[in-house]
Amino acid sequence: MLGARTENNVMSTTLFYQVVVLSSLFLFAPNVRANVLDGIRVHEAPDSIRVVLDARQETQYTYFALDNPYRIVIDLKNTRPGRKLVFSKVSEVLTGIKGIRGAERGKDYRIVIDAKVSLSAKPFKLRPINPYGHRLVVDLFYPTKKKPAVAAAKPRPKAKNRDVVIAIDAGHGGEDPGALGPRKAQEKKVVLRIAKRTADQINRMKGFKAVLIRKGDYYVKLEDRTKLAAQNKADMFVSIHADAFKQSSVSGASVWIRRSEGDDRQESDLERFLVRQANQSDMIGGVGETIKLSKYTTPVQKIIVESSTIFVREHSRLAGEAVLRNMQKVTNLHKKEVTEARFRVLNRPDIISILVETGFISNPSEAKKLAQTQHQIKLAKAIADGIGEYMRANPPPSTFLAARRTELRYTVSPGDTLSEIADRHGVPAAALTRRNKLSSDRIRVGQTIFIPRGA
Ligand SMILES: [Zn+2]
Repeated sequence: MLGARTENNVMSTTLFYQVVVLSSLFLFAPNVRANVLDGIRVHEAPDSIRVVLDARQETQYTYFALDNPYRIVIDLKNTRPGRKLVFSKVSEVLTGIKGIRGAERGKDYRIVIDAKVSLSAKPFKLRPINPYGHRLVVDLFYPTKKKPAVAAAKPRPKAKNRDVVIAIDAGHGGEDPGALGPRKAQEKKVVLRIAKRTADQINRMKGFKAVLIRKGDYYVKLEDRTKLAAQNKADMFVSIHADAFKQSSVSGASVWIRRSEGDDRQESDLERFLVRQANQSDMIGGVGETIKLSKYTTPVQKIIVESSTIFVREHSRLAGEAVLRNMQKVTNLHKKEVTEARFRVLNRPDIISILVETGFISNPSEAKKLAQTQHQIKLAKAIADGIGEYMRANPPPSTFLAARRTELRYTVSPGDTLSEIADRHGVPAAALTRRNKLSSDRIRVGQTIFIPRGA
């Protein structure tokens, strides 16, 4: 082994590769140094479990599944366990798996995942990217529930006075810790707490419903974050971050929107820094397939997308300004205006989207504040209040907010009857009875009657 290593080092790179190619051509295994498995991590998502193996070199592997009991077996070729490899941590109580164990098998190392249900495995390798070396990722998917053969023929209720849906996205997660602060502070943890608190605040507001894009410590790829928002019919998407900068003195919150394609303004140092941190998420978090960057390519689609983008960007700015105004009351701002940047997660041309940097986790005093429950609640309330202000001023059609904004107040005059008032306003009398919680048709002079528009 040692001899081979010395020999490789002496050989020129080209010659080394030639030797490797030749030996594989002649089916000689090159006498390579054994790989070392240094760590195992597990992240549980609602629909899958991600097992990550850290190795010193690219891992060659085979895998198979067994039933009765359910197991997934991964054989790592020419691999030995590192001295610090621990299994105990990963056998904590998990929903889908009972535990993970490992054993040496000749030159190879076998990993056995003991599953609670039949899981399908999808392994893939990730190249080194700071802070990780070579990773072998094994995604385990739960069996998909079979849809009933006959779909329920119930007609969908017409959306009327529906809630405004706000998708709250906690940045990073799972393999991607996000920015790191002093004393092992991780952005992914801080922003998940702030996101959950923001969702709570939004759910308290009448006419609003929050949807959390990430609910725990697992990674969701950038493209899927907005896809989930769209699937949930979100009226607005808010991505929450707490990033780092190379100068720890930098502090304060900021709000960002999608930057227009044609904008060739020079990016600031900070902007480049933040965008890079956010956009390399997929590589650190681990996405197993190539990412399609431009989905909207045909000319007609492009025109539609561009015109909607202008509207969406204008309204994203208005929403962002409202959030910023409210955040100013609870924290200092890094930027007093909404800024445009090429954040990949703000990729939907059809959903009002903002990215909120709640502060800099790289600033020691701000990191401390970001970890405090009281400060998290203040931030969450400010974000929710800003969203509330924007949405009440610009209610999407057929929502409760729109109905409330457009309803009229009518004061009953002598001689008025309910049916007459209803006729005059072109609404059914029953709608007035319902809206005003009347027990009969009797009304009195001077009484205020709410008249919903489009009832
Ligand atoms: Zn971030």
